[in-house]
Amino acid sequence: MAKLSILLYPSPIIRKKSAPVTAIDGELQRFIDDMVETMYAAPGMGLAAPQVGALRRVIVLDPSDDRTAHVPIALINPVLVAGEGQIVDEEGCLCIPDLNEPVSRFKHVTVKAYDRNEKEIVLEGADLLARILQHEIDHLDGVLFIDRLSTAKRLLLKRRLRKGAQRSSPS
Ligand SMILES: [Zn+2]
Repeated sequence: MAKLSILLYPSPIIRKKSAPVTAIDGELQRFIDDMVETMYAAPGMGLAAPQVGALRRVIVLDPSDDRTAHVPIALINPVLVAGEGQIVDEEGCLCIPDLNEPVSRFKHVTVKAYDRNEKEIVLEGADLLARILQHEIDHLDGVLFIDRLSTAKRLLLKRRLRKGAQRSSPS
């Protein structure tokens, strides 16, 4: 396994739409293993392929409290098929370090996907699991959690993030 590097906002790649996976082969299995390793090392509760520069519809996540158990969920071509209720909670993203903002999300979701054994699965999640699923599936469409904030807040943040990016860029 190999750790992959995580792209940082405002990388143009994380704004692109990812393509569906057409073959669950050995290469994809190795890629999923690398994503899992990268997620735990970050550390993060979820990771989407575009965050490591691959525009393919793959996400990995682990919402468990005991993260030493390492029981990751890998989803291929995940689709949000139902959402219910609304809940606001703090959210962050590995592509935008040191930023946490309250985001409104569905409280319960149903997601259809393929697992890494090519089995079609239906996953139901509430609260944290539902939030991670929505956040990671958004990444596959180039959507970041900051896009889901109020317009005023988003403008303010984008200005701040732009300044931050300029400050940290090498001269
Ligand atoms: Zn993210």
